Formats: sequence, structure tokens, C-alpha cells
Amino acid sequence: MIYLDYAATTPLHEEVLEGYYKVLKQYYGNSDSLHEIGRKADRLMKQSRMQVASSLCVKETEIFFTSCASESNNMAIKGYAFANAHKGKHLITTAVEHSSVLETMKQLEEVFGFSITYLPVSEDGVVRLSDLAAAVREDTILVSCMYINNETGAINPIKELAAYVHTHTKAVFHCDCVQALGKYDLPLQDVDMATMSAHKIYGLKGCGLLYKREHLPIIALISAGQQEQHLRGGTSNAPAYTMWAKTIRLALDHQREHYAYVKTLHEMLYKAFSNMEGFVINSPQNGSVYILNVSCEQIGSEIMLNALNARGFAVSAQSTCASKGKPHSYVLAAMGLGELRATHAIRISLSHLTTIAEIEQFLQVIKEIYHEYRT
Ligand code: PLP
Repeated sequence: MIYLDYAATTPLHEEVLEGYYKVLKQYYGNSDSLHEIGRKADRLMKQSRMQVASSLCVKETEIFFTSCASESNNMAIKGYAFANAHKGKHLITTAVEHSSVLETMKQLEEVFGFSITYLPVSEDGVVRLSDLAAAVREDTILVSCMYINNETGAINPIKELAAYVHTHTKAVFHCDCVQALGKYDLPLQDVDMATMSAHKIYGLKGCGLLYKREHLPIIALISAGQQEQHLRGGTSNAPAYTMWAKTIRLALDHQREHYAYVKTLHEMLYKAFSNMEGFVINSPQNGSVYILNVSCEQIGSEIMLNALNARGFAVSAQSTCASKGKPHSYVLAAMGLGELRATHAIRISLSHLTTIAEIEQFLQVIKEIYHEYRT
């Protein structure tokens, strides 16, 4: 199988697997236990938190370990909204966020009486500052905007958006950085909270992270013990959290070199699809080099995915979290690309592990599928 679905998840790095196995076996203590077996697990987790913080140039007290980025998004947005509802009940996000942000916002609106504004995006899938400026209100307490879109790779001007929010409102800025970590430099100095996930960068599944600026008040969603500064109760998954340090170091140490290589793959794909009969590119040309979204107007997403799968290629249509619903991309629809493109899209996502030969084979096979299904 040729895997071209790295935005959905990545294979585990061998070094992370080896380290994890060792920690799981040897350091099984509860990191809150006071005996030596527990203390060892706690020390490893602390070291990991320190290294993660240092890699991201933030303080260790600003790093919270979670079970996944979906949880981190919930923790940041609901946690902040609940803690600050007395200051206002208006939140702003964008129409193209990951479901873990959109569903959180929906719940805040439907169950907890918050008011939410969903910002539109341009034809390139990017949030415009003018739309944000028009949406902010006296009672806006939080703005959440992703850095890189998981379906199209569109890159938002986070520095500019966050600066506006900080200058003109009393709101805080949260940024979903899942598709950017290890690929693009993160705008952590510009935002108040940011979300990351290990399994997108060759780390463990069930391993997320929230960066939260020190002293920013949030309320715990899992109320229990003292773990994660009392903001996320429950016995810590110390072995998994311990592996965050290695995961992030491996990703950041090779970020530039991986980026330069993947850029060449992206250029190859972009050029090929620009000239390919029957296909139209949905991703902006200046988007993430790790993601390319295209539509084939004659072949629906599901048929195309199945045809590719049958020939040994793994790609996605939309966000993997929505893959079991009807194939309709709300992201492409929000970009105004029309119903046909939104139901006929596929997402190719790349890695430094992808070879040029794999891209060549993919391009050959997709052309064959097109000619087969068209006739
Ligand atoms: N945010 C974005 C942009 C994503 O692409 C994903 C995963 O696809 C998530 C959040 C959720 O990540 P996790 O699988 O760790 O919950």
C-alpha cells in the first residue's frame, strides 16, 4: 500500500516505539505515588515537559499533556469560556475548523447559551482580517482560528489576526496548530493557547498537548486530582507523555530538511494536477506543502477513494473524523467552490517518507482511473 494520508495520522517513529516500550515496562508506577516507582515515572514526565517547553520556547508550566488534540481544543475553548463567562459570552471561530473546535462551539451555543460567530474564508480558504475586525464585539472573550487547514493546507495569517485581537479587544486567541507542528514554525509567541497532537508527527496516538499562557484562567473539564496543575484530573499517562519529548525533538530537529524535500514533492503534484484533464486543484498555491486537495468533477470522492484503495493507494476525502458521513467537504463549500467540488474532492497528504517514485505511480494510477471511469 502506498500511504498518502499523513495528515490523518503517521506511522510511529522507531525511536519513539522503542522508548515507549521501555518506559511502559520499566516505569509503570503511578506518577502521583510517593514511593520510588511512582517518583521515577514522575521524573520522566517532568523531564519530558521541560524538554517540550524548551523545544517550543515556552515555560514548562505552560505545557499541559492531554489524550489528543481534540481534547486540547475542548479544554482550551470550553475551559476558557466557562472560566470567563462573566466577562462576556461571545466567541469567534472560523467556518473551516476541525470538528473538535466546531462541535465544541456548537455545544457552547446550544447547551450553555454562548453566542458564536463563524468567520467566512476567502476562495483560498484563508481568514480575512477585515472579517475578524467586523465580528469582534464588546463581549467577545475568545477567538479560535487554526493555523493550517487539515483539508486544504490553507495557512492563516495568525500573527496578524492575533495582534488585532490583542490590540482591539479583551479576548484571548487560541490556535489549533495540529497540522503545523514539525512542518512550519509555530506562532506561540503571538497566541494565548495552542493545540498539538503527537500522532501527526510520528508519535503516539492518545497523546495531545495544550500550550496555555501562564496565569490564563481556565476551568478543568475533567475534575479529579492534582494532575496537570489540577486542570486535567485522572492518573497521568506518564509513559505516553514521557515520549512527547523525543517525538517533538525528532520532528523539530529535521523540520527544515523535511520541509525542503516535501516542497519538491508538492511542486511535482501541483504541476501535474494543474495540467491534468478532468481535475481541478482546491488548495491554494501558497498553502502547506504537506497537503494537496483536488477534485475530479466526473468522479465522486467515495468512488475515487475506493478505486485508489483497490489499486493500493491510501488517501482521504475530507477530515478523517468525518469520513464515515456523506462525502461533502464543509471546508470546500465554505471556500465557495461549489457542491460538485465539495463532493468530488480527495486530499493527498505528504511526508518526508514519501518517495518520488510513489508520487509518479500515484499520478499514473489516478490518470488511469479517470480514463476508466469517464468512459
Ligand atoms: N485539529 C486538526 C487541524 C486536525 O487535523 C486534527 C486531526 O485530524 C485534530 C485537531 C484532532 O487531533 P486528534 O486526532 O489528536 O484528536
